[in-house]
Amino acid sequence: MSFETAKLNAFPVFMRVDGRRVVIVGGGEEALAKARLMAQSSAAVVIVAEAPEPALAEWAASAGAELLRVSYEAALLDGATLVFAATGDETADRAVVTDARARSIPANAVDRPELCDFFTPALVNRAPVAIAVGTEGAGPVLAQMIRARIDRMLSPSLGRLATLAASYREAVERRVARGVARRRFWKAFFTGSPARAVEAGDAHRAAWATEKLLQNQGVEPGHVALVGAGPGAEDLLTLRAQRLLMEADVIVHDALVPEAVIAMGRRDAERIAAGKRKGCHSKTQEEINDLLVRLARQGKRVVRLKSGDPLVFGRAGEEMAALRDADVLYEVVPGITAALAAAADFELPLTLRGVASSLVFTTGHDLKGAALPDWAKLAIDGATVAVYMGRSTAAEVAGRLQEAGLSPDTAVAVVENASLGARRLFHGTLSDLPALADRTDLTGPVLTVIGDAVAGANFARSEPLAAHAHIRANEESKG
Ligand code: SAH
Repeated sequence: MSFETAKLNAFPVFMRVDGRRVVIVGGGEEALAKARLMAQSSAAVVIVAEAPEPALAEWAASAGAELLRVSYEAALLDGATLVFAATGDETADRAVVTDARARSIPANAVDRPELCDFFTPALVNRAPVAIAVGTEGAGPVLAQMIRARIDRMLSPSLGRLATLAASYREAVERRVARGVARRRFWKAFFTGSPARAVEAGDAHRAAWATEKLLQNQGVEPGHVALVGAGPGAEDLLTLRAQRLLMEADVIVHDALVPEAVIAMGRRDAERIAAGKRKGCHSKTQEEINDLLVRLARQGKRVVRLKSGDPLVFGRAGEEMAALRDADVLYEVVPGITAALAAAADFELPLTLRGVASSLVFTTGHDLKGAALPDWAKLAIDGATVAVYMGRSTAAEVAGRLQEAGLSPDTAVAVVENASLGARRLFHGTLSDLPALADRTDLTGPVLTVIGDAVAGANFARSEPLAAHAHIRANEESKG
């Protein structure tokens, strides 16, 4: 076998089928699969099946495809653009292919590559944009895998955007000089404000944004996306977050966002660490706000990447206010917040019928004053409480809840590095919780869940929270 670039035996082309006859011969599953595929086009699909299976008949009726309940004869192929032999029977398929060829019509026989004049691709359909993946019949599963990956990368609204682009083509040729300016225009069109408006389903704004982009010769003001990076595992990022990362000029990220997630951005994107890790030198919130405004004013597409969800203890409120004040366009992309990842790791139902019907996201950080936190009452009424940033204040949290009347035996689950390979799980009760504060072996982010619903978790992989404290107490009493 040689490793020179191999030649394709089947060359991909896009064939015009609108309104033209495509004949599928066969009454079973194979015919249905091809009919479904062809129905993604505007071809006039004709199915020839003397005794179609019910599923095929139903589909044809609902999809408006023509179903001829007649026995096959060659004349039925007359005038077809493409023919599919999908009878499931080799002799019958071969006859259909021979008849098609006699009429100079390309034919495809399902699962018989040696009889095929053409192959059907695995298809990513964003009409009018199509991505066809072919393996010359060698690996349909491989083709589907590739298809799925490409599908994830592309916005669902790409087709609408492409249609809009086509409608502006002439105007762009008239109004924007060929060369650098025109390339800049189309790049901004496909990734900037027109694309965002189409994605939001706002045709009006898309038209307005395109007109503005024409006026400005493709020069776009910057844009900031406040993006949730999820709890840490890179495959817990949303598809939208990933797409925005790939389009960003600059990524401004928090310390909690792992390298593997940031690395999903464009390789040449500028990266700025905004810090925000307890005890580390980091930018102040004001500096971050100013930075975002400054970058956007330079016309950059900025992704402000925050761990978890940007709107949960993410100080996104302040950043959005600064961006609004500066007239900078922005959007928010949700992410999976740490509490949900911790619950998943623990197989812990956050709501549990008859036990817990509300969920509190809170932090140990605002427990300073003497007043009871407003969520203490909810905890007593059975809410599940997820405590963010609760390690150093674990003793206060436990103390205040007990003062408020919550039983010291209430179940507690703690997850360090939720969703990550290095995660650790601990379980115990409210009276064990203070031990968390002096565990110097926990260096990652920690999330605590308190409430009766915690009793429904799976403790097979968790260690007792208090074990460490007991060992220490023993050591101290010995020493
Ligand atoms: N916006 C983030 C929260 C930021 S506050 C979100 O929605 O998740 C930072 C706190 O989040 C940490 O102190 C910790 O309590 C929690 N946290 C973030 N990632 C975590 C993880 N992988 N495991 C456990 N806790 C995490």
